[in-house]
Amino acid sequence: MIIQLKAHAGQNYLDRLIKHLERDGIGRERLDIYSGDTYTLVGIKGDASRLNQDQYRALSYVLDVHRISDPFKELSRQFHPKNSVIRLAGGHRVGAELTIIGGPCAIETQQQLLKSAKLAAEAGANVIRGGAFKPRTLHRSFQGLGEEGLKYLDETRQALGLPVISEIMDASDIPLFEKYGVDIWQVGARNCLNYSFLDALSQVKNPRPVMLKRGDHVLMEEFLGAALRLYEGNPQVILCERGDKTPDRIHRNVLNLNNVAYLKQNYHLPVIVDPSHGSGVRKLVPDLGLAGIAAGADGLMVEVHYNPEKALCDGAQSLCREFKDLVPQARAIYDLRRPAATVRA
Ligand code: PEP
Ligand code: MN
Repeated sequence: MIIQLKAHAGQNYLDRLIKHLERDGIGRERLDIYSGDTYTLVGIKGDASRLNQDQYRALSYVLDVHRISDPFKELSRQFHPKNSVIRLAGGHRVGAELTIIGGPCAIETQQQLLKSAKLAAEAGANVIRGGAFKPRTLHRSFQGLGEEGLKYLDETRQALGLPVISEIMDASDIPLFEKYGVDIWQVGARNCLNYSFLDALSQVKNPRPVMLKRGDHVLMEEFLGAALRLYEGNPQVILCERGDKTPDRIHRNVLNLNNVAYLKQNYHLPVIVDPSHGSGVRKLVPDLGLAGIAAGADGLMVEVHYNPEKALCDGAQSLCREFKDLVPQARAIYDLRRPAATVRA
């Protein structure tokens, strides 16, 4: 970190700053001081991540504070150039091979889940999705089957031999997710910045992989901060881009593929794109999914329902047979991209 004093700030101010730093545990031996004709710069050697930058910036004689190292360095490719690889039950490796997650938005009945999951599995899905706890805008609409849904998900996993993912909405449901052995715990967009919840998840004793969805209009630094909170307790973190709301009435959300390319180039965690919530429009889902893979994503999560017209939740963005065409195309783009997708220093 470098602290820049205001123009012509004299020795008096420099001494005040040094005292301030000493009070924060940074001794004189860790400082490198450069005095130019106009400006004095104070460099702090070593880890200064615990210093309150804003407090220093607010000092009357300080012009600016510059952070040198990435505040999310544990997630950065600078120190961990290779992709993080997350191995799921059954052997699938997220981050090392194309990951296709398919299944219904919400688990409605045992048969609806099984039929939809079979359709997804036959098309080439590696992971089955199904929501048991649904964060619905209207509390009077279908809220999910709760524990019963997790039971059906467990049965489906056993029937198809594929790992499953489901959204956990509250820390009090942790024992249920453990009981039914949900393979990937999804943190939905609405909980992306729910810090006490993220902390509770990061403290789970035998943690499962967690997929963190970027919340609506959540900034990259907020998203990375949330991911780091989880990562400190459980390094099996997967990121998911699902877009932001838009005033445009055609789309429910707009996918931010800049984020996908940026995250993949600079950070080592796997990134999944959700073109279903990212558009809200069935006809757009395949093309946006392919664009997500082209942008560098490690995989897709797509809502698949055997009868979308009858779906209790998100039928308008759910694929049925179209999913079968999407998977090989996603694979072709993934394979095409792979040689170039090696780490950029
Ligand atoms: C979901 O994937 O089931 C979901 C509710 O999505 P989001 O949190 O992105 O709205
Ligand atoms: Mn949905």
